[in-house]
Amino acid sequence: MSKRDYYEVLGVSRNATEDELKKAYRKLAMKYHPDHNPGDAQAEQKFKEAAEAYDVLRDENKRARYDRFGFAGVQEGAGGFNNADDIFSHFEDIFGDLFGFSGAGGSRGTRGADLRYNLTIRFDQAAEGDTITLSLPRHITCPECSGTGAAPGTHPETCRHCNGTGQVRRSQGFFQIATPCPICHGEGQFIRKPCPRCKGDGLVVDTRKLEVHVPAGVDTGVRLRVRGEGEPGTHGAPPGDLYVVITVEPDERWRREGQDLYCTASVSFAQAALGHKMEVPGLKGLIPIEIPKGVQSGTILRCPGEGMPYPGRARRGDLLVEVKVVTPTHLTQRQEELLKEFEASGDETFIDKLKDVFTRKKS
Ligand SMILES: [Zn+2]
Ligand SMILES: [Zn+2]
Repeated sequence: MSKRDYYEVLGVSRNATEDELKKAYRKLAMKYHPDHNPGDAQAEQKFKEAAEAYDVLRDENKRARYDRFGFAGVQEGAGGFNNADDIFSHFEDIFGDLFGFSGAGGSRGTRGADLRYNLTIRFDQAAEGDTITLSLPRHITCPECSGTGAAPGTHPETCRHCNGTGQVRRSQGFFQIATPCPICHGEGQFIRKPCPRCKGDGLVVDTRKLEVHVPAGVDTGVRLRVRGEGEPGTHGAPPGDLYVVITVEPDERWRREGQDLYCTASVSFAQAALGHKMEVPGLKGLIPIEIPKGVQSGTILRCPGEGMPYPGRARRGDLLVEVKVVTPTHLTQRQEELLKEFEASGDETFIDKLKDVFTRKKS
């Protein structure tokens, strides 16, 4: 099946605002959500299609790439969904509040909440991949009071005001209105002496270490899913997942576009005219390049396979070198004379004379 244009999928114009995209996506997602269309493969397909379209268009960079290069600009490497799970997790992220998502599918307990961890890595870590130890805060049952919230040796007391129900009823005309008990704040019990460790919450924040492998070639916005490392579930339901959301710090040597890298090679006026051998920064060290004779400013030279790796593959993007011809701002008298002569003559052999003047004596 050929892919439909992302804008077409969402039914928006090519200059749709972020808000319009979100609205369009919400509408489609609700309509085709599998919970509302059980067993309908076509709805599921549409749901995935919409999720993929939205995932690309909501991201400024990906959207720009898509606008320029179409699917090819966004399919490989960073971004795209790798499997159906990703689509649902992504959906959950945005709409978790709308649908009571239960990954466990109807078991009694509630699946633990997913956690998000924002991880910023250096450019070289993104280029080579790395194993990073995260310090993850999460809630655990307070070991001091076993979760009761009461100081050791004491117990929570039943609220006498509401007899432990947590609600008080009062009559208003024909109606009875139940409101949360003002004494125990709806808890039905209160703690006379709170546990000093958790201040009566029954939960404490625990920090634990977790190693995650960041694959080579990741880009900003990539979400790595670590199964089962979210909050614990209740009543035996499975824990949530951990999403590590990557931000890659920029490196001043390159500009990144997908898996391609761009850098600039500044050459003098004479070097551009005569051709020049030089080196540009590559990920694995300096790369020798040859500036062709007569190059124009803005020309792009391609070094294949010298860009960022595609995560999980042997392929790499390219390094694109943009040639920038620097026009001299201060000329010696001799240089100026020669240039005038050159302009007047239109003579190609004249170039050798120029070479002498410009390379021997830099202004
Ligand atoms: Zn406690
Ligand atoms: Zn009460």
